[in-house]
Amino acid sequence: MSVLRVCKMPGLAHSDAMENLPPMGAHTSIAGGWEKSFDRAMATGFDAMQIFVKNNRQWFAAPATESEVAAFVKHPGRKKLRHVVAHNGYLINPAAAEGPVRDNSRRAMREELLRAESLGLPLIVLHPGAHLGDGVETGIRRIVELLDGIIDETPCCQCLFALETTAGQGTTIGHEFGHLGAILAATRFPERYCVCLDTAHIVAAGHEVSSEAACEKTFAALAGEVGWERLRVFHLNDSKAPQGSRKDRHEHIGMGHVPAACFRYILRHPKFRDIPMILETPKGEDMREDVENLARLREIALG
Ligand SMILES: [Zn+2]
Ligand SMILES: [Zn+2]
Repeated sequence: MSVLRVCKMPGLAHSDAMENLPPMGAHTSIAGGWEKSFDRAMATGFDAMQIFVKNNRQWFAAPATESEVAAFVKHPGRKKLRHVVAHNGYLINPAAAEGPVRDNSRRAMREELLRAESLGLPLIVLHPGAHLGDGVETGIRRIVELLDGIIDETPCCQCLFALETTAGQGTTIGHEFGHLGAILAATRFPERYCVCLDTAHIVAAGHEVSSEAACEKTFAALAGEVGWERLRVFHLNDSKAPQGSRKDRHEHIGMGHVPAACFRYILRHPKFRDIPMILETPKGEDMREDVENLARLREIALG
């Protein structure tokens, strides 16, 4: 634990330093109902969390009832935990070619967006998709067509699509920042998109973040493609897979290939002070590992 070391820091009271960190938490289970995620997150001391809006391994779910939505939006935890974001289901591939997977992806993504909207969540993180051999350019065209089609049908929706930076495993799109820039350049609705940066993914994708100077260069390149204001959520994961491996393998903080300098840069950056920082690292039922990983992140940020 870092507390003793933090308390000894000259001129910086422990509580003040903690208060200056961005809201942090982890992806949290919705088993038993959406509102149960608040109980889990608060018991673990989160001030941010990410949830799936339905079972993430199935295409569709029965429509949510009013009482299910009310149990979430009126839960006492909602006022305490202001930074809650959604993540889309794993089957959805907006870059898929015409066919059943694309049809299902279109319907599922639309339903998940509307679920997140009904829960009052500001954004839903999504993996841009895999082109499955048809090429990046074709994949990007399909992604924009599918997501813009959904936006066309949901003009009053406030919930944003948050395109996630990816590791580049297989034929996934989003490991080069230019991919996200191309999506944003092609959409008719740039105001409905933002970006999620995953630290494990950018390292696996080969981006250089081993020092503060390297981070500055890499983040400037990303911001050049998408704009600083679009960075609205971070996934703080360590990576079991080495830099440039293009493999998506999450690891506990401090045990993998993401340099501490990268976590420190993000957690201390004044632009990211109010941005939710979400762990997606392995854990058991009691979420003890989340507590440990968050403590390590605080130690890195304040150390
Ligand atoms: Zn992620
Ligand atoms: Zn990942």
